[in-house]
Amino acid sequence: MKTWKVGIIGGGPGGLMTAHALQKLATHPVEITVFEASPRLGGKILTPRFASHPVGYEAGAAEFYDYSHFDEDALKELIKELGLPIRPMGGPAVVMNEQVLANMDDIADHLGADAAQAVVQFDRMAKDMMTPQEFYHANDHTHEHGSDTTEHVQKQRFDSLLTDLKPHPSFQYIENLMHSDLAAEPRQTSVAYGLQNYLMNDPAYMGVYGIEGGNERLPQELIARISATFRLEHRVESIVRTPQGSMQVRSICSEDSVQSEAFRVEEFDFVVVALPLAHFNSIGYECDGLAAKMRAHHDFYDYPAHYLRMTLLFESPFWRNQFSDSYWMLDKFGGCCLYDESSRDPGCDRGVLGWLLGGDDAARMSELDDQQLINEALDSLPSFLSHGRDVFIEGQVHRWIGAVNAMPGGETPVTLDRRHQPDAMQNPNLFCVGDYLFDSTLNGVLDSANYVAEWMAAEIADHPIGAPSSTDSHSSITNFSNHTDQQTV
Ligand SMILES: Cc1cc2nc3c(=O)[nH]c(=O)nc-3n(C[C@H](O)[C@H](O)[C@H](O)COP(=O)(O)OP(=O)(O)OC[C@H]3O[C@@H](n4cnc5c(N)ncnc54)[C@H](O)[C@@H]3O)c2cc1C
Repeated sequence: MKTWKVGIIGGGPGGLMTAHALQKLATHPVEITVFEASPRLGGKILTPRFASHPVGYEAGAAEFYDYSHFDEDALKELIKELGLPIRPMGGPAVVMNEQVLANMDDIADHLGADAAQAVVQFDRMAKDMMTPQEFYHANDHTHEHGSDTTEHVQKQRFDSLLTDLKPHPSFQYIENLMHSDLAAEPRQTSVAYGLQNYLMNDPAYMGVYGIEGGNERLPQELIARISATFRLEHRVESIVRTPQGSMQVRSICSEDSVQSEAFRVEEFDFVVVALPLAHFNSIGYECDGLAAKMRAHHDFYDYPAHYLRMTLLFESPFWRNQFSDSYWMLDKFGGCCLYDESSRDPGCDRGVLGWLLGGDDAARMSELDDQQLINEALDSLPSFLSHGRDVFIEGQVHRWIGAVNAMPGGETPVTLDRRHQPDAMQNPNLFCVGDYLFDSTLNGVLDSANYVAEWMAAEIADHPIGAPSSTDSHSSITNFSNHTDQQTV
C-alpha cells in the first residue's frame, strides 16, 4: 500500500491542526513533514515569561472564543480532547475620560442621557441585523452559507453604520469597546465582520476563555500527539510541480543554526500552505500559472490588520480594588484592551497588565522603541491607577504588524473549496489553510485545517495505490549540513 507524503508549510496552529486532523482521519499510511521557519512551533500562540521573574503572559493570541452554548464548537472539543483545563474570562468595562463605564447607568451618568440613548439604539440595530443564531452560523465555517445577502453586506464598510453616532461620545464608546478586537479601523472592514466584533462583547453571543497554565499548551499538546518530521528553522522558499504531478518543496536552513547555507529539496503528494498572508508571498510558486493563481489568492484576502502588545510586570496587582475582571477597555491609542494577565493564574503574587493595541495606532506606534512603548503604556494608566508606576518591574513588547486580517473571507465570499484550493485545475494537490479564510481567529484556522485534512483523507481513501498523475515520491537532499534542527516525534 502506498505511503502518502504530505508537506505542511508553517508550524503555527494551522499547520499543527492540519497534521493532527489528517493523522486521525487518514485510512492509509501518511508521512507528514512540517516546515517551520523559526526555531519554535506554535506560531502566534506563545506564552513567554518575564526575564526577571518566572511569570508567564500571553504575547500573541489572548483568548479562545466559546460557541458551545449554541451547538458544535470544534475548538472547545479539541481542547477538551487534549485534556487541557480552561478558565472563563470576562469583561469588559470601558474606561473613558477617567471614569469606569460598566453598564448603561454609568454611561448615562458620565456621558449623558443622549449618549446612553444612542448606545442603546445602536445596540438594538446591531442585534436586529445579527441575532445570536445568525452570529453562530456566521462563525460556523463547516457549511456554505447563502451568498446573496452576505455579498451585499460585505461590500458596505462598517463605518457606514457609525455615521449617525459620529459627533457623539457614544461613537468613542463603541470604538473603544471594539477597536482592539477588530485590529483595524471601522472603514477598513465589512459591516458583517464589524458587527461580529461588536456583538462578541455580549455573553448571549459568545463566551471567552483561556487555557490554565498558558494558551501555548494547545500547540504543545498537539505536537506531543503528532507523528511527523518537524523541520525547525527551515524556511520554505519555493514550491515546484514535477512533471509527474507531485510537489517539490525547497527549504533553506537558517544560517544561525548552520555555518553555511543549506538547501533541502523534498517531494510530496500533497502540500499545504499554512501561512498567514504576511508570509504567503515569501514563497516562490514556480510552476506554469501557479504563481499568478497564488498571487490572486493572496490579493483577494489582503486586508492587513495590526496588533501591538506591551506587557508590564508589577510587584502587585495594584488595580484589583477597582477592577476584578480579566480585561477592560481603555480610551487610549484609539481604544485598547488592558488584560489582567495575572488573573489567569490565581497563584501569581505579582501583577501583570497587557496592553493590546489594534489598527492604525498599533501600526504607527510599532515604530517606537521598546522603552518608549513601555513609557507610553505607563502614561496611559488612568490617574486613579497612576501609582502603578511605583511598583513597575519590567516590560516586554511584541509587534504584530499585518499579522491578522481586517476583512477575513474577502469582500465577496467564495465557496469553501475555492478558498482552500487556489489552483483546482492545474495543482489540485496544493491546499491553503488559514484564519484569513474565515474570521482571523483560532476557531477559524481550526475549521480551515479540518476542512483540508478531510479533503486530503478522502483523496487518499479514493486512491489507495496512488493517484494516476503522481509518482512514488521520494526525498532528495542537496548540500545539507549535518545539524540537529530536525525532530521526529
Ligand atoms: C496579538 C494577537 C492576538 C490574537 N488574539 C487572538 C485571540 O484572542 N483569539 C483568537 O482566536 N485568535 C487570536 N489571534 C489570531 C491567532 O493568533 C491566529 O488565528 C493563529 O495564530 C493563526 O495560525 P496560523 O498557523 O495560520 O498562523 P501563525 O500562527 O502565524 O503561524 C504560521 C507559522 O508559519 C511560519 N512561517 C512563516 N513563513 C514560513 C516559511 N516560508 N516557511 C516555513 N514556515 C514559515 C511562522 O514562523 C509561524 O510559526 C491573535 C493574533 C495576534 C497577532
